[in-house]
Amino acid sequence: MHRAFFALPVLLALTACLSGDKGDRTYTETAVTEGPLTTQRGSMLSNQSGRVLVPVELDGDEVSFMVTAKTDTLISLEAILDENGDEVVNWKDWLSAKSTESLTSAFYVYGYDSVVNWPVRDVDRSLSAGTWTARFTTLDEDYYYVEDVLVDYTVQTKTDEDLESAVVKVRLVWAEGLDTRNDLQQAVEGAMERWREVWGAAGVTIEVTEVSSELDPELTVDSVAPFPNDEVDYGGDDDDVTVIIGETINGTRGLYGQSGGIPGTLISTANAAVYISWLTNAGRDGEFQEYEVLLLGETMAHEVGHYLGLFHPVEATYDYYDALEDTVECTSWSKCEDQLGENLMFPYPLCSFSDCEPQGNLTVDQSAVMNLYTGAL
Ligand SMILES: [Zn+2]
Repeated sequence: MHRAFFALPVLLALTACLSGDKGDRTYTETAVTEGPLTTQRGSMLSNQSGRVLVPVELDGDEVSFMVTAKTDTLISLEAILDENGDEVVNWKDWLSAKSTESLTSAFYVYGYDSVVNWPVRDVDRSLSAGTWTARFTTLDEDYYYVEDVLVDYTVQTKTDEDLESAVVKVRLVWAEGLDTRNDLQQAVEGAMERWREVWGAAGVTIEVTEVSSELDPELTVDSVAPFPNDEVDYGGDDDDVTVIIGETINGTRGLYGQSGGIPGTLISTANAAVYISWLTNAGRDGEFQEYEVLLLGETMAHEVGHYLGLFHPVEATYDYYDALEDTVECTSWSKCEDQLGENLMFPYPLCSFSDCEPQGNLTVDQSAVMNLYTGAL
C-alpha cells in the first residue's frame, strides 16, 4: 500500500519535469559557417494543427538549402514557402492521384525524420533574401496530426558560384572485418574509379575517407518501412555522406544497394547512409570479375545519386517517372531499356551471365540536381 502512495507524487514530479524539459529544449543555436556551408540547429514544438514551421534565413547569396527534421513520431514535409509566405512547392501537387512524377521523398511519410533539399531542379531555382519556411507535419501512427511534439531541426545552406562543378565528401565505412580482405579492397578501389568516371560527366568529384567499423556485415535497413530505425549514429561531419560497405542488405542477395533517402541528409539520423552489398554485386560465385567491379562502381554512383536527390528516370512499373524534362517518359520495358538503359539511374542493371551493359549516362537535368545538393560543395 505504501508503494502506491509514494508512486503518485513521483509520477507528478516526472510529468512536471518532462513538460518543463520540453519548453527548455525549444531553442535556436547560432549558425556555424564553414566555407560555403552554413549549419544552424534548433528545436520547436509542433503547433495546434500539427505543423512545424522551420525558418530558413537566406541573405540572397545561397543557391540551395537543406532542412532535416527529426522527432519521435512520424513527420513529413508539407510545403516550402518563400520570404513572402507564398508556397513554392506543396506535397499535394506531387502525391495526388494524377501525379506520375517524383520530386522528393520528403513528402512521403516514411519515418521519424524528413529531409528536403531545395531547389531540387534547375527550374526550381528562385531563392531570394529573407526568411523562407519549410513546413512539416507531425503525425501519429494512424496519420492524424499531432500537436505539441518536439522537433529537432537542422538548416544547412550553401553558397556556390559555380554550379558546374562540385565535390562530395564520402565517408566510406567498412562493416566489420571486410576492410582486411584484399579482394574487397581491390574491387572497391576499382569501383570508385568507375564511380569517379560516371560522376565526372556531371562535374561532381568525390573525396573519399575510409573508416573501419564494428557494424554487422549483414546490414539491416528499415528506412523503406513507415517505422523508425533505431537511431544509429554513423558519425561523420555535417558535410559528408556516409556509404557503408556490407555483405548483404536485409538478408537478401537481391539488393545491390540502398539509399537512406532521396535526398539523404548530411547530418546524423537513423537513415543517414547509403548501404552497399558487395556480395550481390559480385554475382553468384561471390568473386569479382572485371565487369562486376564496374557494376559495383555504378551501384555506388547510382545509390549515392539517389542520396543527392535523383529518382529513377522511370520506375520498373514503366508508368512512374522522375520530374526531369530531359529523361524520356517511356511506357514499356522494351522501350525503357532501349531509351534509358544506359542511364546511371535506370532502376536495374542490364546484365547477362557474363557481362553488364555500361550504365553510366547522366543528363543535363540530372547533373543539375546533383550540383544543387547542399552537400555538393
Ligand atoms: Zn535505384
